Amino acid sequence: MDTSAAQLPIAVIGAGLTGLSAAHHLARAGHPVRIFEAAPAAGGALRTELHPDGWLIEAGPNSLQENPEVTRLIRSLGLDPERLPADPAAKNRYIVRGGVLRAMPTSPPAFFTSSFFSFRTKLKLLRELTRRPVPRVEDLPLSSFIREHFGNELVTYALDPFISGIYAGNADLLSARYAFPALWQAEHDHGSLIRAQVAGAKAKRARGEPSGPAPIISFRSGLAALPRALVASLPAGSLELGAEIDTLLPQPDGTWLIRWFRSGAAYTERVRKVLLALPAGALARLAIGSPGMPTSLASLETLEHPPVTSVFLGYRRADVAHPLDGFGALIPSVEKRSLLGVLFSSTLFPGRAPEGHVALTVMVGGTRRPDIARLPPEKLLPLIQTELASLLGVRGEPVFVRSTAWPRAIPQYKLNHEDHLAVLASAEARHRGLFIGGTVRDGISMTNCLAAGAKLATRATA
Ligand SMILES: Cc1cc2nc3c(=O)[nH]c(=O)nc-3n(C[C@H](O)[C@H](O)[C@H](O)COP(=O)(O)OP(=O)(O)OC[C@H]3O[C@@H](n4cnc5c(N)ncnc54)[C@H](O)[C@@H]3O)c2cc1C
Repeated sequence: MDTSAAQLPIAVIGAGLTGLSAAHHLARAGHPVRIFEAAPAAGGALRTELHPDGWLIEAGPNSLQENPEVTRLIRSLGLDPERLPADPAAKNRYIVRGGVLRAMPTSPPAFFTSSFFSFRTKLKLLRELTRRPVPRVEDLPLSSFIREHFGNELVTYALDPFISGIYAGNADLLSARYAFPALWQAEHDHGSLIRAQVAGAKAKRARGEPSGPAPIISFRSGLAALPRALVASLPAGSLELGAEIDTLLPQPDGTWLIRWFRSGAAYTERVRKVLLALPAGALARLAIGSPGMPTSLASLETLEHPPVTSVFLGYRRADVAHPLDGFGALIPSVEKRSLLGVLFSSTLFPGRAPEGHVALTVMVGGTRRPDIARLPPEKLLPLIQTELASLLGVRGEPVFVRSTAWPRAIPQYKLNHEDHLAVLASAEARHRGLFIGGTVRDGISMTNCLAAGAKLATRATA
């Protein structure tokens, strides 16, 4: 690469949290960067809407799990005054069991004193403490992995609803190794997942970090504050909105020619390296390499992303009988209901509903009931209202409704996930200066995406 080529910017494709994090870290390290985003705004799945009547709607993700890297990022972006920890009133996690909401025990003493789990499951937990590390070679469904450790009841009433809440997925289909790599590693190192957790807490204390569960946070003006601050941290002219990349052409001198479209017009730009921060479906559609020797990521299209519809509902406080004293309620599949879960949004974070009102966010669909996510609003709303009446004692009509459909919501890391990872690794091995990261390989949470962006920046500049 000649000296003029070395001055070219590094291109980041996709300005969701992964791409913005990558661009932020590159710019902070002094690298010229260009970030291309097909949509008219940055942020990807993060969509906060402020309504003049006082509702704050999160149409996509609702909360962010903080770890030391996220804390440092928030601080360096000057977002500390905006940081909003979950209200202590949201401490309870409800699970629907036998048609009613029951608080899930969240601490070890509560697990043993609460009547939520049977004596048999409590014994299983005690026995789990004695497990020794066994080398496990074969991947297995997440439900089988957890069943081996804790038994059936925990799979049915804890794992299953938890997986609906996080992946909108099915624990019988997800891979233990790829969907929860930390658990896989914990078993490998300690045998017992409980002892691994105790050891992890001890190690955190030794590093001077708080040893409790990671804080759940948002921002006063909603989660979109984070992409906004990341964009503001970039040099002017870095971000190209409404720019859909379709072709990446490696050049003989090691640089890349990328082609993008805006309003039907095509543009090309020469860049030093290319960082792809796109979901699987968008990666699958890219043309990479010369037409005679293309590199295809088309098989990533088969990585399942079930649809989810998120429905934000505002009610008068007096119309909801339940105290809403928790994070929300998750619903196990065995309960055979139409919802995956409901978040108590106005309990979780203050400032989400006008005075005298409450806000709930209902999630429907997922691998469990994709048909429900696809219902038109006039059919979906009555279904949700019937469920909320029965579960939370909601009476009357909502005073505010905002429904957002996610036709391809969350990637499911299933037992064949290794095949997808191999496709990514082979594309990177074939093309110098091409780096891929994000939900397709690095985990699905916002915390994972921020880390994926940092990793992309490090790999591209190593
Ligand atoms: C309904 C829902 C609820 C969720 N809840 C939570 C939660 O509470 N907590 C949590 O931690 N996570 C949650 N998640 C997951 C989290 O929001 C996402 O995993 C994360 O935001 C993904 O970020 P990303 O940058 O990798 O991808 P995206 O946000 O998808 O960004 C990719 C960007 O690339 C752009 N793009 C696509 N193709 C092209 C192209 N050819 N050229 C240029 N640009 C292109 C897209 O427009 C998009 O802006 C939720 C997700 C959904 C859908």
